[in-house]
Amino acid sequence: MKKNTIVVTGSNGQVGQELQAIAGQYPDLKFVFTDRDTLDISLLDGVKKYFQNIDCQYVINAAAYTAVDKAETETALAERINTHGATNLAETCATHHITLIHISTDYVYDKLNAPICEDAPTNPKGVYASTKLKGDEAVLNTPNLIAAVVRTSWVYSSFGHNFLKTMLRLGKERAEMSIVFDQVGTPTYARDLAKALVTMVQCLENGSVSTADFKGIFHYSNEGVCSWYDFATVIFSKNAYKTRLKPIRSVAFPTPAERPSYSVLDKSKIKNTFGIEIPYWTDALDACLREL
Ligand code: NDP
Repeated sequence: MKKNTIVVTGSNGQVGQELQAIAGQYPDLKFVFTDRDTLDISLLDGVKKYFQNIDCQYVINAAAYTAVDKAETETALAERINTHGATNLAETCATHHITLIHISTDYVYDKLNAPICEDAPTNPKGVYASTKLKGDEAVLNTPNLIAAVVRTSWVYSSFGHNFLKTMLRLGKERAEMSIVFDQVGTPTYARDLAKALVTMVQCLENGSVSTADFKGIFHYSNEGVCSWYDFATVIFSKNAYKTRLKPIRSVAFPTPAERPSYSVLDKSKIKNTFGIEIPYWTDALDACLREL
């Protein structure tokens, strides 16, 4: 039987590498992992050419410009990758009848103070967030495209650069550290997200989810709620670090790009549609620490 093929973009990123790590668990699926050199999503001609030469049924777009603060000065580059890159993939996937799963961010939403549903108002602050939202809109508005946009938050992994790995490094070096406690959200272990993305493909493939239900926006993070201060506290206690952590407000730690003070995502839709069970964030953290 012919296997369905999933092309993954941005395979050297956190989510991309987690997809590589789990691919072997899905013998019925064939994964093709691409990076910036083999498939630069910002170059329309290259994207078109790539998909003319490959027989695939799904694309998972894990490629993005993710340097949130640097984006404030690298506006054109962020736009080229996050907005035009997503648009290039969406249009090309529509042409070839390929189903697209596009990953996006909690940063697109307006200031909110209750778990955020997929239809919540958007109001991105900063270049990264607004270029991501434009990419999402391009994907969602492309005619004849079957696409899901999966918005996630606070992604970490044993691969790449992230808050967990920064804390593990700084915890060894410093006696005291200040961490913001007025930004609240939920960490996401990229491996759990990667598994959820493959489950989405499987559900569409086996008919348990219709095309109509697959299309649209979904939220995925681990379960639970914490501040960055809480996240750091748990990381340090699990590693028996003695560093003293001091809770501070965001105003005491100014960054070029503004972050939302509340970005807890409501995951009911992805859980109910795809039957996905989501690990609690400290359990997910344990799983990632075991990998490190
Ligand atoms: P990473 O930054 O770890 O990985 C992104 C990957 O995209 C990198 O390997 C990068 O390659 C690649 N890339 C950049 N530009 C291009 C291009 N033009 N063509 C092809 N590949 C390119 O991101 P994450 O895995 O953390 O993020 C995955 C998704 O999740 C993104 O959509 C991001 O916006 C979203 N997200 C991430 C969050 C986080 O905390 N990290 C939070 C919320 C959402 P190279 O290494 O060469 O630069």
